[in-house]
Amino acid sequence: MKVKVEHKDKTTIIRMSGMINEDCELSLDKLQSVGGNTVVFDFKDVLSVNSCGLRAWINFLRKFEENKEIYFRHCTPDIVNQLNMIPSFQGSAKIESLYGEYFCENCKIEQLVLYREGENMPDDVDNIDAVLCKNCGNETEMLELDEEYFDCVMGA
Ligand SMILES: [Zn+2]
Repeated sequence: MKVKVEHKDKTTIIRMSGMINEDCELSLDKLQSVGGNTVVFDFKDVLSVNSCGLRAWINFLRKFEENKEIYFRHCTPDIVNQLNMIPSFQGSAKIESLYGEYFCENCKIEQLVLYREGENMPDDVDNIDAVLCKNCGNETEMLELDEEYFDCVMGA
């Protein structure tokens, strides 16, 4: 896992990339000293999370989130699945944006849709707009069960 810390105005942005696994403990330990009251974690380039990484992340966040306002940005489907299965993966963080993954039966291609809080994030499972294939215009299928996928932002 690689970590890049950036300070923008009063916000600290932490970009994560690679795999969150047993090797990330050291990098996470170093992050404990990162200051700022508002911290955004950007998961865009995270490839996968395994169970050792998961444990390290939860231990890290529990301590890190004290007295901070935390946001998760660009949560990939892998991260969203963790969020939905394991509430402590999220802790007190708010989800700013997440990706949905859609598949077109016709073209056999996948496409990602970015959902942003306050913009196009669904607020109700009955309210998820159909996503059309960029290639053929057909309605696509979400790769995950859509009724459950948005649990982490619906407070269900
Ligand atoms: Zn298509």
